[in-house]
Amino acid sequence: MTDEPTKTLKLMVTGGAGYVGSVCAARLIEAGHDVTVVDDLSTGHADAVHPDATFVEGDAAEVAGRLLGDGFDGVLHFAAKSLVGESMTDPAKYWEGNVLTSLRLLEAMRDHGTKRLVFSSTAATYGEPESSPIPETAPTQPTNTYGATKLAIDHAITSFSRAHGIAAVSLRYFNVAGAYGSFGERHTTETHLIPLVLQVATGDRERIQIFGDDYPTSDGTAIRDYIHVVDLADAHLLALRHAADGEHRIYNLGSGTGFSVLEVIEACRRTTGHEIPAAVAPRRAGDPSVLVASSERAGDELGWKPERTDLDGIVADAWTFTQSRQNV
Ligand code: UDP
Repeated sequence: MTDEPTKTLKLMVTGGAGYVGSVCAARLIEAGHDVTVVDDLSTGHADAVHPDATFVEGDAAEVAGRLLGDGFDGVLHFAAKSLVGESMTDPAKYWEGNVLTSLRLLEAMRDHGTKRLVFSSTAATYGEPESSPIPETAPTQPTNTYGATKLAIDHAITSFSRAHGIAAVSLRYFNVAGAYGSFGERHTTETHLIPLVLQVATGDRERIQIFGDDYPTSDGTAIRDYIHVVDLADAHLLALRHAADGEHRIYNLGSGTGFSVLEVIEACRRTTGHEIPAAVAPRRAGDPSVLVASSERAGDELGWKPERTDLDGIVADAWTFTQSRQNV
């Protein structure tokens, strides 16, 4: 980050009781900003709201409509439904919960003249990539409803930003991992690899299933780009600073390095000292073999450089967090 003085901003963080939102709210508060967290606690946790944030429990769009007039400088919009499998079996929940809610939020921003927006988009907007690493110019062909709803919101943001002068940034996350002290990943329905592997180490799960060992990769398991949640959060602060009126910019956020499922399991074994039994299972439908980001644009335009790229370090932070949640 540059060392230019930071102006205190009054910010609304939707989904600030969730994983990425809570870490981002903490980093914003530590940077001196005035943060209001809005969360309906459908998947977030009240005790994940930073103690120095103002907390409003409720629907993001409804609360934005009511409160954005109180002099907010901007919105960071994390609140979303984010289970890929569920998005395929209950699409209405995703079109309503993600697209309609975001549309209402954009309308509230328009009505109250709120000029800055940072949105949590996703690598799932690209679908099965044609080449690797994936730049922002890659075709957007989502293979699941979750990715389709996030892409639809990206398009809506482009329109609102042009029409109403909103300075908007969409950040397309690759595989977010790690933790920040007491803020970490604790989904009631957990589908992500690292927390699931760590559940084996805590004894909450018998073994980890490896979804496919016949991918065209060096060890046959799928490769992903794991980005530390603190590096990811810091990109939001830079995005706020660099957003330009009437423009909607899109950035991929990943470390640019891929790790296979087996490499992740090995890192978890090293960190936890647990043998972590694993069993090969069929591929999970819709899982591409390799997803790695090109984050060159975020480097060039935001000055963003991920600093916590060591896989063992990422896993160690997740493990410390997981252990701290045991017996809570
Ligand atoms: N994965 C796995 N076993 C699990 C969960 C995930 O082998 O129990 C694999 C999954 O198929 C993918 C990688 O781990 O190749 C990362 O999956 P995750 O759900 O964490 O993130 P995604 O890449 O799907 O967003």
